[in-house]
Amino acid sequence: MLAGCNTTQPLPTTAALGVAAAGAGGDRRSALAWAERYRANPSDPEAVVNYARALRAYGQRTQAVAVLEQASIQHPKHRGLLTAYGRALAEIGNYKRAFDVLDHAHTPADPDWRILSVQGAALAFALGSYRFTRYRKQDGKEVKLELPGNVDGEDLSRIVDGVTLARDLINTPANDLGPAELEAAARTLAARHGAEVRAVVGEDLLEQNFPLIHAVGRAAARPPRLIDLTWGEAGHPKITLIGKGVCFDSGGLDIKPESGMLNMKKDMGGAASMLALAHMVMDRGLKLRLRVLIPAVENAISGSAFRPRDVYRSRKGLSVEIGNTDAEGRLILADAIALADEDEPDLIADMATLTGAARVALGTEIPPFYTDDDALAAALAGCAKSENDPLWRMPLWRPYEALLESKVADVNNVASGNFGGSITAALFLRRFVAAAKAWLHCDIYAWNQTTKPGRPEGAECQAARALYALLVSRYG
Ligand SMILES: [Zn+2]
Repeated sequence: MLAGCNTTQPLPTTAALGVAAAGAGGDRRSALAWAERYRANPSDPEAVVNYARALRAYGQRTQAVAVLEQASIQHPKHRGLLTAYGRALAEIGNYKRAFDVLDHAHTPADPDWRILSVQGAALAFALGSYRFTRYRKQDGKEVKLELPGNVDGEDLSRIVDGVTLARDLINTPANDLGPAELEAAARTLAARHGAEVRAVVGEDLLEQNFPLIHAVGRAAARPPRLIDLTWGEAGHPKITLIGKGVCFDSGGLDIKPESGMLNMKKDMGGAASMLALAHMVMDRGLKLRLRVLIPAVENAISGSAFRPRDVYRSRKGLSVEIGNTDAEGRLILADAIALADEDEPDLIADMATLTGAARVALGTEIPPFYTDDDALAAALAGCAKSENDPLWRMPLWRPYEALLESKVADVNNVASGNFGGSITAALFLRRFVAAAKAWLHCDIYAWNQTTKPGRPEGAECQAARALYALLVSRYG
């Protein structure tokens, strides 16, 4: 039943394996030990799995498949062996056979199986098929995905629709996506799900006490605004999502260098990803009271631009000195968080393309997240793993609070010194949370540098799928 894989190349000798191990800088001794044990008893599952692991580690993947296949015929019910066999098959590209083997070994709820679940494969296929077609027709064939019966096609579609919405918004250049167009996107989404939207625009921001959003956005020809979407029954747990919506970030007067400014159409990636998450939540009909706040601005340069060393009193009442006009995201988020906090929600989650420091720490593919709530952190980390939407917790390190000190105001918008910038940005935001039961902040990148499976180069919707899984587990 488990035969049929054409992998009958001769096995390497023990000596050859040892040489390969040494060449690859691997642990030659233990590779040799497992090889010896395997040769003494080729049906010992533990020896087979470890010997195969050594073979795979040293690049001899086909041979690994061969030894695993042989042993699996003798031990057709050994889960560890079959799991290793399935993974080795996937590594050499024999996915169909890998599915069969893993399907035989595991139930869909198994963590090992999730790595190659049919649901996950279908999602990866759908997400990988995304193309941004607004300005240029895409040639090539249309491919239709036929889902097997055990895949939840409805949930798959709502996730893909959400991610597509976010990617389209992020990919759209700033000349076609300013604060007004971002508001229009929120209104379109709201109309689809029976949600309500109000927006505070331009000078009204001052009247209604959003001084930081106004200060950051006032230099642009296109007026800044705060977009406020609500949905769901008032009695349900209150969840407030906040997304940074800087439609273009020139850096303001502390102007960015050319390399740093090039891709700044994506500086509304937090807003786009939160709209994607909102779509998933509303389409699924989760039992929660949803609020989405998007401070939407263009950080531009003109005679009315805010300046370094300006001091503004925030909505919350804290005075903020501007150390750098390019740290604008945390300023607009601060007023939005303060508003969200007035509701005393069960959770405030904010998402923002906030710091380059987050990329220095973890690279472009693993956004850091911050929270004081250990249970929430553990749950989110689990969802990030199971959904293959990677996130990594970083610390709200109290001693770094001192780096945000200002000589003239309650707080500076940038930290002194060049280190720990993602942490100090998160610490700045935390100052505006008081009454919410929990707060979570994700510092995302919102962009794929190169095409990877399921992740085409360009805009990316990070963290939304992991957060969706978390909300489904709590309010589904
Ligand atoms: Zn900036």
